[in-house]
Amino acid sequence: MITTHNLGFPRIGKKRELKFALEDYWHGRAGEEKLQATAAGLRKQHWQTQACVDYAAVGDFSLYDQVLDMSFTLGNIPARVREKPLANELDNYFRVARGRSVGASDCECVQAGEMTKWFDTNYHYIVPEFDSSTEFNLNPTRLLQQFAEAKAAGVNAKPVIIGPLTYLALGVWKSDGCKSDVEKNTLNKLDLLPRLLAVYRELLQELVAAGADWVQIDEPILVTELAQEWQQAFGIAYHQLKATGAKLLLATYFGELRENLQLTVELPVQGLHLDVSNRDTGSAEQATIASGPSDELIRVLDRLPAHKILSLGVVDGRNIWRNDLTKTLDWLEPVAEKLGDRLWLAPSCSLLHLPVDLAQEQHLDAEIKPWLAFATQKLSEVALLAKALNHGRESINAELEKNRVVLQARKHSPRVNRPSVKAALSQLTPAYGERKSPYSVRALVQRTRFRLPNFPTTTIGSFPQTGDIRAARRKFRNGELTELAYRDFIQQQIRESITQQEKLDLDVLVHGEAERNDMVEYFGEQLEGFIFSALGWVQSYGSRCVKPPIIYGDIDRQDAMTLSWIAYAQTLTERPVKGMLTGPVTILNWSFVRNDQARATTAKQIALAIRKEVLDLEKTGVAIIQIDEAALREGLPLRKSEWNNYLNWAIESFRIAANGVADSTQIHTHMCYSDFNDIIEAIAHMDADVITIETSRSNMKLLDVFEKFSYPNEIGPGVYDIHSPNIPTEEAIVALMEKAALHIPSERLWVNPDCGLKTRQWQEVLPALRNMVSAAKQLRSAKQLITEQLGPEKLLDKTATAEA
Ligand code: GLN
Ligand code: ZN
Repeated sequence: MITTHNLGFPRIGKKRELKFALEDYWHGRAGEEKLQATAAGLRKQHWQTQACVDYAAVGDFSLYDQVLDMSFTLGNIPARVREKPLANELDNYFRVARGRSVGASDCECVQAGEMTKWFDTNYHYIVPEFDSSTEFNLNPTRLLQQFAEAKAAGVNAKPVIIGPLTYLALGVWKSDGCKSDVEKNTLNKLDLLPRLLAVYRELLQELVAAGADWVQIDEPILVTELAQEWQQAFGIAYHQLKATGAKLLLATYFGELRENLQLTVELPVQGLHLDVSNRDTGSAEQATIASGPSDELIRVLDRLPAHKILSLGVVDGRNIWRNDLTKTLDWLEPVAEKLGDRLWLAPSCSLLHLPVDLAQEQHLDAEIKPWLAFATQKLSEVALLAKALNHGRESINAELEKNRVVLQARKHSPRVNRPSVKAALSQLTPAYGERKSPYSVRALVQRTRFRLPNFPTTTIGSFPQTGDIRAARRKFRNGELTELAYRDFIQQQIRESITQQEKLDLDVLVHGEAERNDMVEYFGEQLEGFIFSALGWVQSYGSRCVKPPIIYGDIDRQDAMTLSWIAYAQTLTERPVKGMLTGPVTILNWSFVRNDQARATTAKQIALAIRKEVLDLEKTGVAIIQIDEAALREGLPLRKSEWNNYLNWAIESFRIAANGVADSTQIHTHMCYSDFNDIIEAIAHMDADVITIETSRSNMKLLDVFEKFSYPNEIGPGVYDIHSPNIPTEEAIVALMEKAALHIPSERLWVNPDCGLKTRQWQEVLPALRNMVSAAKQLRSAKQLITEQLGPEKLLDKTATAEA
């Protein structure tokens, strides 16, 4: 008989119950008991949902983050909290997670743990911190309690923990400032392994003593490129853990093992889980859905020792498409034949990255809904596949027939296949991605057109989204506000924002984005090929959830999406107003993407749609157009060897969207991070006239990159940290810009905030921008002085060399 199991379940709740319970606790509206009761209720409900598979995951439930839970289980708590603990453990937990626990005026605030993306998903975890004083002390209470709770509820429970090497790899080395990055990430962290393993051994012994049959131990770093010391450390670690007598199911996911395959199959564990559903290698041609056993699976089947269990993640655990059950069975049956009882089935990874339940979507497009499966439906698919393998396909005849009908409908739907989109795509030539002239020529044309001062000032797009604005949008959606009244309201917001910007004396203005709820959703809602769920929330971090758009078909743009707002804004001022768009790669990376064609193809379809908008804006006289690529870096594949594949089509997509304009139209792009070290050449290849980036918090760390690479176009390093309510002083801004001017010729520098201002209050934004504009003016007069001293010819020379 084939065994089925689950690797993890979303914890946020069908109606985001956990989010609301957490926020009630943090704001002092409810006590811990209430929060814990909600959490226990959700766990119980989620175990019931998992009853259709043989083993349910336990310990995957988290009040904030599973990596932070692991840090607490291992007793790895940052000194700032460990040394001044509050009496209540939960409060200490939230202090590491978010800097504070209950109440806004909590004087026990500490610096929150750093947050970063969990592999290539859009989930963010709290980064474990290590330093030379790091010690580990087992605290198994949370895990043992949840295990006992599950057993009491009659659940066949499989505890889930993060493996020691993935845990170490995900952490950062703090302090010890003299060490190089390489040392920090390899040598020092591995030095902690013996101490860490001692605690893992104790933990596994506790779980065995509590009656755990199997323990799932997650080591997703096995799908990434590992240094040799790390590969070796795997052997050492798992030989030590073997002595505990725990039956370990080593789980890998999000990619293939490749060069780590031999090492992995040889580890002394009782079972191995592989992700065999996802084939996304960043390739420009392949659809991302697996349609047969991969070469890798064949190699594993060849090499797996005869006593080991092999768990196959045959159902894609991070995308929302229904499995092709017949196709899966076609290749799975021979594998099952070979493995017999040693075959287990599961979703490819934890279902954390999916919405909870499709069944509660009342208003989802009726044609498309049957094509989808959320977390709950994914588990039924696993159960069905196992049933077919255990009892023959006939045992699920009706389901197979239904599945075939649904998939045929999807495949042949005229809403999925739009010949006009495919035709447009087939006519793409390299010329689509090329500006008419190189930057040096465009810069001269644009300088004459805009006559901007040195150190021109601008903002990134959005202005504060006040309660009034959100209320108006909501009323418009609910039909409580007529289109006319809504338009009036937004125009009034635009007028106010233009007035403020003129008063501030900014050089390049924005309309303020009051009409946008979200920078991706706003466009998705107006493009063909997208749908939106009502309750399809996915945890991003802590209590924060996102509802990713679903891209189901060929993408097209019928009507202009932003034109009327921008054109209106431009009528109000003599200064240039930027047209404001979201780029194709960001739209792709923040959506659930169709799996029946390569992501690259979908990206290019979006690019062509955005290009239409760009050209319409240009035609109407909008002279500066910004195309945000906030999430471009997020799409980088886990393996560096695949980065070029991805960057090639991602940058090409941006270029298709942006580069159809005349030399005199200025293209801006914006990115929300400053970590450009290994992708700067690709960024430069986007060939935007101006790029604005986040740098103020990292004190212009970005500039390191320009030591080796001279960025050819204009750049606006952020000088105002918009994540903080603090108001930057004029001096601080001048200092940051002077630092930037050491690396980038000042003729090519812009002055702007790190990102959009939509989460801030007007009373912070106005003084901050006032300081920013005066800082720019101060820089200009300083420069004027130097110019007078050097003579203008010298300066021109400098500009010319910089541009050459
Ligand atoms: N134009 C967007 C804004 O200003 C950019 C947001 C982002 O980069 N995340 O809000
Ligand atoms: Zn940003």
